[in-house]
Amino acid sequence: MSRIGIVGLGLIGGSLGLDLRAQGHEVLGIARRRATCDRALKRGIADHSATDLTLLSEVDLIFLCTPIAAILPTLEQIIPHLHPDTIITDVASVKTPIVTAATTLWPYFLGGHPMAGTEQQGVEAAQRDLFQNAPYVLTPTAATPAEIIATLTPLIGQLQARCYHCSPAAHDRAVASISHLPVMLSASLIACQDTLDAETLPLAQALASSGFRDTSRVGGGNPELGVMMARYNRAALQAALQSYRQSLDRLSDQIEQEDWAGLTAMLQQTQTARRPFVAEDT
Ligand code: NAP
Repeated sequence: MSRIGIVGLGLIGGSLGLDLRAQGHEVLGIARRRATCDRALKRGIADHSATDLTLLSEVDLIFLCTPIAAILPTLEQIIPHLHPDTIITDVASVKTPIVTAATTLWPYFLGGHPMAGTEQQGVEAAQRDLFQNAPYVLTPTAATPAEIIATLTPLIGQLQARCYHCSPAAHDRAVASISHLPVMLSASLIACQDTLDAETLPLAQALASSGFRDTSRVGGGNPELGVMMARYNRAALQAALQSYRQSLDRLSDQIEQEDWAGLTAMLQQTQTARRPFVAEDT
């Protein structure tokens, strides 16, 4: 049993609190507003909750669960209150900028990203078993002390998540390709419907069915999240967009040149290549 601090008691922080308490850990929750602390206590997210950072002087390990832009400022604010052995991790969806800066501020920092979520936000959105069967990526660097990895890995296992270890840069390239790129493609798919003429647009809207619903879903989500991906994972997302542009150009050339054999070969290849990405769905 550990004493665990959670800063930011929203969807991810609150869900961690519920699961970690269920595993017998003592959870000390920090929020900006007293009302969030009261709800967190009422919902069983934390054993103790306060807006006062001094509560963190008593913990072994801290999860930083604020929005991405607040992770590093929050780390700077809490440092004066911590015991020097305290392990700190975060849950932000982009790792390189966070890990690079955080490890210079605090040597016992190990970046993390639970790849689970819902469309909801805030303390009311927290739920039990959110991380069950979901990937949870830890991003050590060459300088990460081995004991932090040895402490955090089994804790992630207790959430029933599938724990992966990789470098921050590899994490950011992978999520750029399978998470951030699809949001941008899906958004541009929706945006280009604007070019339809006045007769065709309402007809297309009436005829749109499961294919359009599936391919437009992630592009029709929270705009703030899309901007966050582009801002904090800019280089990896640009590389992914560039690679996608080449792929789209190749496809467009095949259609232009009526290269049906080439198009067939490409679609046969993508039919097979999709499977390892969605193994659990097939
Ligand atoms: P959320 O539900 O909005 O929760 C954010 C929490 O941080 C709230 O408790 C909020 O406090 C607090 N907060 C907001 N702005 C703050 C600030 N400027 N300074 C300090 N605290 C602040 O968000 P979330 O979905 O849990 O996301 C939190 C983190 O998890 C993000 O870094 C995100 O990248 C990562 N993440 C999200 C998902 C997802 O699907 N949502 C998945 C994986 C990782 P109040 O209650 O006082 O407003």
